[in-house]
Amino acid sequence: MTKLLDGNQLALKIREEISKEIEEKIINKKRRIPHLGIILMGNNDSSITYVNSKIKECKKTGIKSTLIHLSSSISENILLKEIKKMNLNPLIDGFIVQLPLGKHINQEKIILSIDPKKDVDGFHPENFGKMALGMKSFFPATALGIITMLERNKIDISGKHSVIIGRSRIVGTPISILMSRKAYPGNSTVTITHSKTPNIESFTKQADIIIVAIGIPKFIKSNMIKKGSIIIDVGINNIKNNNKNILIGDVDFHNVYEKVSYITPVPGGVGPMTRIMLLKNTLKAALKNK
Ligand code: NAP
Repeated sequence: MTKLLDGNQLALKIREEISKEIEEKIINKKRRIPHLGIILMGNNDSSITYVNSKIKECKKTGIKSTLIHLSSSISENILLKEIKKMNLNPLIDGFIVQLPLGKHINQEKIILSIDPKKDVDGFHPENFGKMALGMKSFFPATALGIITMLERNKIDISGKHSVIIGRSRIVGTPISILMSRKAYPGNSTVTITHSKTPNIESFTKQADIIIVAIGIPKFIKSNMIKKGSIIIDVGINNIKNNNKNILIGDVDFHNVYEKVSYITPVPGGVGPMTRIMLLKNTLKAALKNK
């Protein structure tokens, strides 16, 4: 029987765990409550939605948040100055710069300017490199959310063949590192595929676990997978259906449902796990910030 991997339920449980940890380790010890900074540039609809849901999640968890909303026309120097302020502010435990940025901004320069100790998105090369080397660091939230979801649902990934579709810095590459790392959960045999991979179904048909993050609606169909596979759908595609905007994933959910053993829905799968992992990283930063 197919089991739905419910990200909403699990994120709720983790939120309660975070709140409890804040109470025990911070409030009861009369320490300052964790504080997340968010820098948002411009008025991209999706970015605003993501930022608002992060702020809402902070409120529900008991984490303070401060939003710096900058105009899309500000220069790279102004943005760097705002980042410096966040880096130097002892009352900010961690912060994120919401991507994407304006075309005139050098994204790599921005990521490099974030203090790795406050880089709760885990995008700075110091954190990313540590993760790749199996050292402690902040892991990117989506990859951490996926691995946590597999672990909490007691899905053993060790020795399983995982096919990752997509190799972005924020999803595909970090999740391929975490799935294959020599640790628990990990030890999966990983194949990473992308837009230049010919005949992707020849890989997906062999996969025990498929993680797809490409942004193409209903890309994965039943004839591309083997029976009993586990599907993690990271894709978020905003499409029009009967004149209404709806969100769908990179997997043709109804088409594959009967054939898989586990699947994440969209919405309500990886998305809520990503949001809650940002808060887990913020708490981690706060506990380290003496
Ligand atoms: P991205 O940076 O645009 O990367 C897309 C990746 O997909 C690239 O590696 C690209 O290959 C690959 N790709 C594109 N077309 C392909 C095809 N036909 N076959 C195989 N691979 C293909 O995207 P992203 O930021 O990783 O996001 C991917 C999706 O996940 C989006 O829908 C995004 O909204 C969603 N997302 C969801 C969450 C969440 O929390 N649920 C978080 C982040 C992102 P190349 O490298 O060769 O170009």
